[in-house]
Amino acid sequence: MPGAAAYRAASPRSHLLNGDTAEQYRRSVTDGAGRVADRIARTERPFTGITPDRLAPEVGAIDLDRPLNDPAAALDELESVYLRDAVYFHHPRYLAHLNCPVVIPAVLGEAVLSAVNSSLDTWDQSAGGTLIERRLIDWTAERIGLGTAADGIFTSGGSQSNLQAMLIAREEACRIVQKNAERPLPRSEILPRLRILTSEAGHFSITKAATLLGLGPEAVVSVPCERDKRMRTDALAHELERCARQDLEVMAVVATAGTTDFGSIDPLPELAELCTRHGTWLHVDAAYGGGLLASRRRRQLLDGIEHADSVTVDYHKSFFQPVSSSAILVRDSTALRHVTYHADYLNPARMAEERIPNQVDKSIQTTRRFDALKLWLTLRIMGADAVGDLFDEVIDRAADAWRLLDEDPRFEVVTKSQLSTLVFRYVPPGPAGVSHALTDRVNLHAREALFASGDAVVAGTVVDGAHYLKFTLLNPETALQDIADVLDLIAEHAGRYLAEHAGPEREPAARAS
Ligand SMILES: *Cc1c(COP(=O)(O)O)cnc(C)c1O
Repeated sequence: MPGAAAYRAASPRSHLLNGDTAEQYRRSVTDGAGRVADRIARTERPFTGITPDRLAPEVGAIDLDRPLNDPAAALDELESVYLRDAVYFHHPRYLAHLNCPVVIPAVLGEAVLSAVNSSLDTWDQSAGGTLIERRLIDWTAERIGLGTAADGIFTSGGSQSNLQAMLIAREEACRIVQKNAERPLPRSEILPRLRILTSEAGHFSITKAATLLGLGPEAVVSVPCERDKRMRTDALAHELERCARQDLEVMAVVATAGTTDFGSIDPLPELAELCTRHGTWLHVDAAYGGGLLASRRRRQLLDGIEHADSVTVDYHKSFFQPVSSSAILVRDSTALRHVTYHADYLNPARMAEERIPNQVDKSIQTTRRFDALKLWLTLRIMGADAVGDLFDEVIDRAADAWRLLDEDPRFEVVTKSQLSTLVFRYVPPGPAGVSHALTDRVNLHAREALFASGDAVVAGTVVDGAHYLKFTLLNPETALQDIADVLDLIAEHAGRYLAEHAGPEREPAARAS
């Protein structure tokens, strides 16, 4: 490694990656990967429990106008402001959010794609990358069963995929309303009449998308779920009929294939049938459940998805890919025209006529990462079956963990997930139990105390107004024993809190208001 002195003498151009500096690049990146490998090899807990208050001064104290001129020194510094206290998703006791441990072939892809730095907006910035991305879109569309006219594009994540899907659905709805109108209608008259129907367990990015797309606050209609947190088909039928009666235009039904909290998969065949009957756009948000496309044992859980008009898949959730990697797929490739704009400096219309493949014609982004390369190397090195086997394993584990929780009198569990989440809460012992407010506080405290200890990380959510805890299992290395141990830790933290706060005189009166 060149020392600081050598760097100080170096010209700014010596930092550019090119033919002259290729060796320096190799050393620098190898050193960086080595640090991460060392850190991961000796991580004993998913988190150190550091608080923002303690870490912020360390980050704040760094003078960004005084470079270290030495990669090794910068990596040393990074240890103390990032690597030491980062949350590590590879750790078996990270059980919180939908962020997965990553497979090495994909991390290899990440290293390659950022060094070559293709931008997948135009062919003249990406060449082979464009073709690789297109193959993976075709591969995904084929696994979904979208038919030969399907197409799509990689995006930064499920939220962006959902946004693009809603944009397309909005444009299609506007076109249909306009076609059926007796006089030309201004958009301002159409937009307030548009509705999106999605289940109460659907993802909040749909509501965000509606706002970004200029729809009114009432645009997203929440359809009730069954007890198992799947959308109620009768309730959807009811809403579709109500909208028709009230002259509202349902621009999309959004079915969720794997809800974020409950891993529930909406009844896709029934919802698809209703959509066909009403002529309604069906979007399937499979951000989480999309991994089933690679499963050898559970692909049938997605049956009906082939009827969708558009589908969101997050490879960075259930395909074990690093952030970011997602795609939006459409049944009819021409639907992507709603994001096609031409610029003389980038992708003149002439190029489309000459059949030069410019992916920017299908994307809401311009400069865009070659995220597809990660999935490509994953499929080429380990294969789809291996990815599906990993996902199947965590779903198996979640089923075992559900049994564990269901039999454990210390906890109550909401529903058995079709995927790999568990929503549950600690129930204070005793025949009469304690107040709802105290039960809420006990569970909130247990989660916070666990996070502060760094022994494990779990998530939280609210069900029917009450606070619950949540496991999201995405790590096949998480053993049932890990889950049992974390449940004991939760019970310990909860029990301690209860012992300190349970006396009726200790119940804070102010909370009652
Ligand atoms: C995670 C998730 C999203 C959002 O995806 P991001 O990649 O986080 O933007 C959308 N829908 C569902 C069901 C999800 O679980």
